[in-house]
Amino acid sequence: MSLLIIGTMAFDALETPFGKVDRIIGGSATYAAWAASNFAKPIKQVSIVGGDFPMEEFAALEERGVAFEGVEVVPDGKSFFWSGRYHMDMNTRDTLVTELNVLAQFDPKIPESYQDCQYVMLGNLVPAVQISVLQQLKTRPKLVIMDTMNFWMDIAMDDLKKVLGMVDLLMVNDSEARQLSGEHSIVKAAKKIQAMGPKYLIIKKGEHGALLFYENQIFSAPALPLEDVFDPTGAGDSFAGGFIGYLTRIDDISFESMKAAVIIGSAMASYCVEKFGPTRLKELTAEDINNRVNEFVALANFEIK
Ligand code: AMP
Repeated sequence: MSLLIIGTMAFDALETPFGKVDRIIGGSATYAAWAASNFAKPIKQVSIVGGDFPMEEFAALEERGVAFEGVEVVPDGKSFFWSGRYHMDMNTRDTLVTELNVLAQFDPKIPESYQDCQYVMLGNLVPAVQISVLQQLKTRPKLVIMDTMNFWMDIAMDDLKKVLGMVDLLMVNDSEARQLSGEHSIVKAAKKIQAMGPKYLIIKKGEHGALLFYENQIFSAPALPLEDVFDPTGAGDSFAGGFIGYLTRIDDISFESMKAAVIIGSAMASYCVEKFGPTRLKELTAEDINNRVNEFVALANFEIK
């Protein structure tokens, strides 16, 4: 099965209590593709970058089965740039700079070779662009998931509500779920958001794990208590990439499979935060992933006699 991922490919400047980097590779689609490439092939990427984006990054992802026909390169443009500073708890951060650059003119054209994608991840991006991608797909994919963030809730709420009506699953963190729904209770927030369109909803709670909602069922996935969290950037996108990469591979979207996918996503996110940027994701082997998934299973497994 093929997977389509759309999102940013970017430069990030990051500050955490453990260090600082001025300009490293980031972007929602970059993290998602690295995480998903452990499970699904081919991955058909849709994004836009400037002439400043290193070609070696494309080459490294290409080796993992990622296709770039749908990625526009604007030779005299600058790539999207985001800068953030994490607080001591590593769960909250301040956005210092968001420079849209080439993203401001992004009008993706979905290539004919992408029309076979049954699984689609709309990474965190301008909601109008997320809508345009779905409108260009000639057949409704089997599963469309989306990510978003407070930035788009602040400046593009109407379009955001429109995309919500077109997707199967939304992933947000707890504060975004509260902002989107206007509810403090996560359970009430989930009901309101599901009424906006997505049948499935994942609410991520940083170091406290994630909740999957479907109809009146809730699945709770733990987060692995890690000794060192170095840089949480991209954890959400790695979660999303692992989640949909796994579902693409098994080609099954039952609630039971989604529970397993939440654990796979959590495992990918837990690896992502161990080093700055996507560095740790790039090094992972199938054995690493298996080991981490088993740690999650052991963590949450209990019997009551
Ligand atoms: P996450 O930590 O999973 O929320 O993802 C962080 C990544 O999202 C960074 O690599 C940024 O380049 C990218 N990013 C930050 N702000 C935005 C935005 N407004 N739209 C799209 N991507 C963004």
